[in-house]
Amino acid sequence: GCERLAAELPEQQFNTWIRPLPPAELSDDAEGGLVVTLKVPNRFKMDWIRSQYGARIEALLAELSGQSVRVELQLAAREPQAIRVASPLPVQASLPIADGGPAVRASDTPALATHRLNASLTFENLVPGRANQMARTAALHVAGAPGVMYNPLFIYGGVGLGKTHLIHAVGNALLRDKPDARILYLHAEQFISDVVKNYQRKTFDELKAKYHSLDLLLIDDVQFFAGKERTQEEFFNAFEALLAKRAHIIMTSDTYPKGLADIDERLTSRFDAGLTVAIEPPELEMRVAILLKKSESEGAPMPEDVAFFVAKNVRANVRELEGALRKVLAYARFSHKDINIGLAREALKDLLSIQNRQISVENIQKTVADFYKIKVADMYSKKRPASIARPRQIAMYLAKELTQKSLPEIGELFGGRDHTTVLHAVRKIGGERQKNSELNQQLHVLEQTLKG
Ligand code: ADP
Ligand code: MG
Repeated sequence: GCERLAAELPEQQFNTWIRPLPPAELSDDAEGGLVVTLKVPNRFKMDWIRSQYGARIEALLAELSGQSVRVELQLAAREPQAIRVASPLPVQASLPIADGGPAVRASDTPALATHRLNASLTFENLVPGRANQMARTAALHVAGAPGVMYNPLFIYGGVGLGKTHLIHAVGNALLRDKPDARILYLHAEQFISDVVKNYQRKTFDELKAKYHSLDLLLIDDVQFFAGKERTQEEFFNAFEALLAKRAHIIMTSDTYPKGLADIDERLTSRFDAGLTVAIEPPELEMRVAILLKKSESEGAPMPEDVAFFVAKNVRANVRELEGALRKVLAYARFSHKDINIGLAREALKDLLSIQNRQISVENIQKTVADFYKIKVADMYSKKRPASIARPRQIAMYLAKELTQKSLPEIGELFGGRDHTTVLHAVRKIGGERQKNSELNQQLHVLEQTLKG
């Protein structure tokens, strides 16, 4: 179950929230269901895990066990004192410990001294392409001369497109040039948990000392600050202090600053004050280049025609591309066969059949109509009130995005509308989606539903 969860969740999230938990205890409940008890170190983590992952864990375990599953979260008893004293960092034993858990784990506090950079994420192994050109150029610039230009640098884009890789690359490059540069990489969730910890312990001065003394702060996925007012305030303070002394700040996010929901306008306007750049999904050539490079560095270079085959079929993002590559390489290794298109097709069978499962325009119309609670017939009707016209435009947009149909064909299926009407809808919804996070969210749900 843990492995499945690891595969489903972004690595950072998994590492931050799930991996540190001790193994679960299993028991049966009265109705023959399974109760899984997880011990969590403190109340904050308990709430967070319950709200963010509870349902997901239950669903996953239910699927794996074939039983109904209830996840219970319990506060873990405090670690015995002896363990802490025996830890390699005895200094920390004297820090005040918040009630409700071992807030001071040996692995938490050394962040004061370490940069938390992943040394394997470098510019050298980041394949350049049109999709990341701007972001990469800006990042290289900052790595070469931090604090001078493009401060703050704000990098946004969808999942698996290389944002995390890119900011680690900046940190690693700077570290190589200037080994004593004070650099810190943090996922936004780690920052949040730091703030909470210091809040409990009333040790904001420590927090300040930690963040305000850096040369380069890399904060990943700032969209996680949404709704966390206290965190935003602390981040704002750190932000101002760092900029005032010309330290560099690089942030990543899944959307551009003004598109961030539930983050104080005071902050988002600061985010936008330096340079904001997007990373786009890689185009075909770049996907091929990534496959060639990664397979080569795995010591099993992929022939170009195979790389094209895989790249044509796996389009969403680099993370998925890597997954596909791993499958193909593993398959070749186990079957002792050479890598060719036939083998790749075989290795990616499941993945391809999911992708090829035809999404029909009819299916899209029905799904969208259900979602917005209108009649399917209104998809073809001439009615114009916004409550109907908008879902219809959304359905047209999805039809263009998720099927191979041409604009005139789609128009035909929407009650004989002109292709320019379809084009208008596609552009309008596509453009709005970039700016309107609520719409983007809805489209996301619809896409997931349609893709099964
Ligand atoms: P994000 O943070 O945008 O979700 P990541 O940085 O975690 O994405 O990237 C996902 C995976 O894809 C990582 O293993 C990363 O090394 C790899 N990756 C992304 N972009 C590139 C690229 N241009 N060249 C090589 N590898 C890449
Ligand atoms: Mg990331």
